[in-house]
Order: sequence, then C-alpha cells, then structure tokens
Amino acid sequence: GGGRKMIVGGNWKCNLDQAKAAALVEQLNGMEVGNCEVVVAPVFLHIPMVMNTLKKDKALVSAQNCSFTGMGAYTGDISAEHLVDMGIQWVILGHSERRQYFKEDDEMLAKKLEYALSKGLKVIYCIGEQKEQRENGTTMDVCKKQLEGVAKMLNPETVVIAYEPVWAIGTGLVATPEQAQDTQKSIREYIASAASPDVAAKIRIQYGGSVNGKNCAELAALEDIDGFLVGGASLKPEFTDIVKACS
Ligand code: PEP
Repeated sequence: GGGRKMIVGGNWKCNLDQAKAAALVEQLNGMEVGNCEVVVAPVFLHIPMVMNTLKKDKALVSAQNCSFTGMGAYTGDISAEHLVDMGIQWVILGHSERRQYFKEDDEMLAKKLEYALSKGLKVIYCIGEQKEQRENGTTMDVCKKQLEGVAKMLNPETVVIAYEPVWAIGTGLVATPEQAQDTQKSIREYIASAASPDVAAKIRIQYGGSVNGKNCAELAALEDIDGFLVGGASLKPEFTDIVKACS
C-alpha cells in the first residue's frame, strides 16, 4: 500500500448455506483487523443473519450487486433503497461474473454506480481484462474503457476500485507483483487524467484474483495496491491472514 487506508473485501459469491455462513462469521469475529477496513459480501438472503452476528468493529456487510433502478415493478431485483433501508453500507458492482454471465455492460454499470452513490451507498467497482486481452497487450485499453463512463463519479470517500484480471479470478493464477503494480499504477494515472490528480492520489485500488494467505504479503507491500477483493480464500480461515497482512 501507498499509505492509503487498506481495505479488504470478502466476496462470498453464491456460496455457503446458513450454517456455514454462520460458522464463517464466528471466525471473522475473532480476527485481528488493526487499521484495515474489512467488508464481507454474503448472498442477499444471509445478509440479515450476518449483520446480526458479525461484530461491526471487525467487518461491515456488503451486497454483491444491486439494481440500476429504484424500487418498483422490477421482478427479481433488489434496489439501492432496499440496501440502505436494511442498514447496508456497501455494494460490489461490475464483478466480472456479473459482466460475463449476466451481461452487465459498462453502460448499465455506470447507471448502477450513479444510482447507488445517489442513495448514499459506498461501492467497490470492479474492472479487469480477460486473458486474451492481457496476451495481446490491450489490458490498459480495456481498463480505460471500463472506467471512462464512471471517471467523474470516482469519489475516494465512497468508491473503491477493484482491479481484477479475469484470468486470475478463481484460477489459482495470481498476477505477478509486477503485473499487479504496473497495471494499478497505470489505472491510477488514467484516473488522474480522467478525474483529477487529487482523486487519483486518494482513491483506493484493490487487487483481486487468486489472493491467498501465502501471496498476500508481497502484494500488500506494493505502492498502488490498497487492499484486496478476495473470492475463494474469503471462505476459509486464511482470510484472517489476508486481513492481517493489510492491518
Ligand atoms: C473475486 O471473485 O473477486 C476473486 C478475486 O476471486 P478469487 O479470489 O477466488 O480469485
């Protein structure tokens, strides 16, 4: 990290039954967080249980998604207003799985971000290139395109960027420290030009993609890495080691 407050997110995705989620909360209640901000994102249905049992000085609860609309006739969706009404302060938007499997594009995600921020939510906004794009050298073109339409909304107080190379998510293929640092430095430079140098200096950029208890310390030491968004390892005891590396 480069001196910004570190933030670690645990993205539980569409995993865990109630009993396993409750057991995970019990573990989290024993972790050492120091100066690190921690948020965990259970499935919507488990959020009330997690909010009732997770100690607030350990971690806050995030949703994994929300609608680009407000309340209304939108069957199956959950609005920012619902999250706020439940006392939820954070939402993850633009995760690569939402982009890939649920066809959420930059335009829709810009609407979601704008709407969520307008209701007072804080947002972890995910970007990142696919394997082929990394290989053909277009990583930064992809990241810029994903940020272009939202650059003016990037407030360091309310938005965290998660840089997650898609080829590193759930694959065990973590980006090298050099790949992660170089890309995140370039993302920060782009934000300086598209938003402002002040926003770029203050906004936190997480790295995500096969972070685990073993590789986290080296990555956490890098200048432009301000924490992690963690999938697989967030379901395991080693999540507490990842948080510790950021405390
Ligand atoms: C993620 O889904 O945000 C993620 C980084 O997953 P994993 O840690 O399992 O690669």
